[in-house]
Amino acid sequence: MRLRVLGAYGAVDATHNLTGYLIDDRIAVDAGTLTSKLTLVQQARIESVFVTHAHADHIRDLPHLIVNRFNQNAPPLNIIASSEVMDRLANYVFNGEVWPDFEKIVAPETGRPAIQYRAVAPGKKIRIGTTEFTVVPVNHSVPAAGVIVEMDGQSVAFTGDTGPTDQFWKRTNRFENLVGVITEASFPNDFQTLAAESGHLTPELFERELVKIQRDIPIYASHRKIPYDKKIESEIKNIRDRRARVLVEKQYTL
Ligand SMILES: [Zn+2]
Ligand SMILES: [Zn+2]
Repeated sequence: MRLRVLGAYGAVDATHNLTGYLIDDRIAVDAGTLTSKLTLVQQARIESVFVTHAHADHIRDLPHLIVNRFNQNAPPLNIIASSEVMDRLANYVFNGEVWPDFEKIVAPETGRPAIQYRAVAPGKKIRIGTTEFTVVPVNHSVPAAGVIVEMDGQSVAFTGDTGPTDQFWKRTNRFENLVGVITEASFPNDFQTLAAESGHLTPELFERELVKIQRDIPIYASHRKIPYDKKIESEIKNIRDRRARVLVEKQYTL
């Protein structure tokens, strides 16, 4: 599968972008960066967006994606999230104050709503078309769930923001056809306390997570905070596990 990394950072400036991934041009995971890097035609091709959690750096482009599709002849966009995350999107984002509840508005070009909410109970999976999404809670400062996306006989796992977790890796290890894991390393090693308090990983904690993953596949550290990028990169490169990689903003073939 082709993984296009639109944003690999937990912050944004002129050359670094917020978390956003696109698989085979049609499945998005997190929406920090989608519209700002895709043409309208590319945006209309997206079938589903999985949202790991409702922090602003993971949803920034979601309303804009919906608005753009609303005025195009695009089928309803599936917005997939754990039920806890979906509640937060409904209450704090698409609440009729910050943004409309787009599920209730019919798009002029299609006569259908521009989106369809697909809340998934934590630990369960949902199949949409030929793609399966297995939703597994992770440990962050707010309710959050990672996802294992299975399509065309391959699986890829995304934790989103998380501190150390066992549950996610136990589930991930059941996927025989896993080709990659995208997790995080937000802060350098000397910010361990801050990482623990905010539900994030450092390279040292990332290394401990690697031990729990029973597959010989690349495991990428994403969501780096920009000022510490070089430090985190060198700390990841010093890990003595050949699976450890730094995620950069480019297209990967997994
Ligand atoms: Zn984040
Ligand atoms: Zn977060």
